[in-house]
Amino acid sequence: MTDVTSRPHQLPQVPFGSDGETWQQILESQGLSNGHAAPVSGPIGDPQAMYPVEPGLETRAFELPASGLSDAKRRKALSSMELYLADRRDHMLGYQVTQDMNGYPTDLSRFMENHLNNIGDPFQSGGYKPNTKIAERAVLDYYAALWNAQWPHDPRVPESYWGYMLSMGSTEGNMYALWNARDYLSGKALIESTEPTTFGALRYVQAAPHIDNPNAFHPVAFFSEDTHYSFAKAVRVLNVDTFHAAGEALYPGRCPLTDADGRPLKEWPTEVPSRRGPSGNSADGPGEIDIDALETLVKFFAGNGHPIMISLNYGSTFKGAHDDVRRVCERLLPIFEENGLLERPVQYGKDPKTGEAKIDLRRGFWIHVDGALGAGYGPFMRMAYEDPRFGWTPEVDLPEFDFGLTLSSEDDNQIDMVASIAMSGHKWPGAPWPCGIYMTKVKYQLMPPSQPQYIGSPDTTFAGSRNGFSPLVIWDHLARHSYQDQVNLIRHAQDLSIYLENRLRQLERKHRVKLWPARTRGALTVRFRRPSDKLVDKWSLSTEDVFMVPKKPETRRRYAHIFLMASTTREKIDAFLAELERECADQLLPAVEALPTLAAEAPVELADGVLSLAAVPGPGRGFQ
Ligand SMILES: *Cc1c(COP(=O)(O)O)cnc(C)c1O
Repeated sequence: MTDVTSRPHQLPQVPFGSDGETWQQILESQGLSNGHAAPVSGPIGDPQAMYPVEPGLETRAFELPASGLSDAKRRKALSSMELYLADRRDHMLGYQVTQDMNGYPTDLSRFMENHLNNIGDPFQSGGYKPNTKIAERAVLDYYAALWNAQWPHDPRVPESYWGYMLSMGSTEGNMYALWNARDYLSGKALIESTEPTTFGALRYVQAAPHIDNPNAFHPVAFFSEDTHYSFAKAVRVLNVDTFHAAGEALYPGRCPLTDADGRPLKEWPTEVPSRRGPSGNSADGPGEIDIDALETLVKFFAGNGHPIMISLNYGSTFKGAHDDVRRVCERLLPIFEENGLLERPVQYGKDPKTGEAKIDLRRGFWIHVDGALGAGYGPFMRMAYEDPRFGWTPEVDLPEFDFGLTLSSEDDNQIDMVASIAMSGHKWPGAPWPCGIYMTKVKYQLMPPSQPQYIGSPDTTFAGSRNGFSPLVIWDHLARHSYQDQVNLIRHAQDLSIYLENRLRQLERKHRVKLWPARTRGALTVRFRRPSDKLVDKWSLSTEDVFMVPKKPETRRRYAHIFLMASTTREKIDAFLAELERECADQLLPAVEALPTLAAEAPVELADGVLSLAAVPGPGRGFQ
């Protein structure tokens, strides 16, 4: 490649666009570069040669020249996209995303004529009227009922729910939960502005430090090894200490956990361990959080005066596992109680007349449920398990996970345990693009506590502009399906998961190959030995590499998984299995030894004073 930095006007002659012209020729034909410097920067390489190749699509056909594309070229490009998507959709098995919209969004395509924007709080009309908030509120109420929250939303009722529909998926929901939890637990408050000129404005303040507990406003976050990478991202974005970071910085060498042989751990692990499997490690475990380990860790940090933030998984990303939220709560409530975390005063101001302290009574713990996948179907599985009239008894009674989960404290108060839930709408029940729900309770929202009648800042959501089309899509789905229909959808997915697991075991026996098929009970996913790249690619399989024994590269295993969604058909699974069977018969499965080396095998040693903050999940966990 020529050195272009010194001669900016002499770009390489890169062909650009589908007409065979170069970038320079196009600029000249548009009168944009005749002897003078062009107003835009040109390519220093050929994007078509540099960008990833997807069979059936051509980078060149999508390149956007200064002239735009002719109608014919534009339509040709769009047609190639349509064919590509139809084919990829027919072969998508690896991700927990519903593929088939049953044609119903086409019924909604007429709304594409509008710019739909639900900017601001869903419970306030706001100035931008072309919105769909009426449908959004109906959807939120529907899930509030499913998740046993008190509804409808009422800003005057602390126990009632508050929530909104996300423009992103659960990544946004998890981030919002952590933001809300961080502010709530660290003693942030929104109070009315002290400046009389800014009518209605609020001020964001930090409560006065606690006199005898320096950690009172230093929350610590806990989440398991099987947690989605969005949570590790959220702690970085929001600068929240994980127990690992706080442990290494404040309590080095004091981790109360032990390894598989009962020896104390020298370093704080980066995440809460997941339950161990037959190997004695978590790699072949069910994917649920290790409740004993969590309890030990929480006890340590609560005992040192920290408020506690925990994210639990309901439908984990790779193994589809459901953390036992109820059992976690039962184990942790006594710890919260012992350490004064059920109620603690947060002083944020004083009365201007009497000088009396203005105090907000808050919890010192926050339990978030990342129900990206499971919060969508879990309630229907639980319903079917309880009530034979639905005509199907699921193989497991999924754990209780929602706002209805209350426990009795020592002094016989009913304590509701779950503070927030996130769900991805495109995973379950399905939508043409990412969307989702975040839900909490009015009492956890930051607002002036002196004024329970306060109507809430209109700027309550993460984004400003919000997707107004998603509420229509989810609303339409819910309007088309009764609870019985919903049960039937999850039943189909569960039956298919069991079917796939059994078929994989048959293949293993028949061809005497190791396929390591595994499925956590109640999960919609089956994991197994990663087949050839060709199959991984063709069927959009999601893959993950694990060490069966931590830090022992020779024990690495490569897994793939398939998610069985309401849109997955038996035909599709059979077609995949036929191809997998051919690989078993012809011994085409990649050898276990033929694994590429990972960068992690040559870790950098941390210099003195460098703090370890959080593990950032690499490929896997839904990323690859
Ligand atoms: C998919 C997933 C997320 C992230 O959701 P997005 O909708 O992709 O943002 C978070 N948590 C879990 C458990 C997930 O499976």
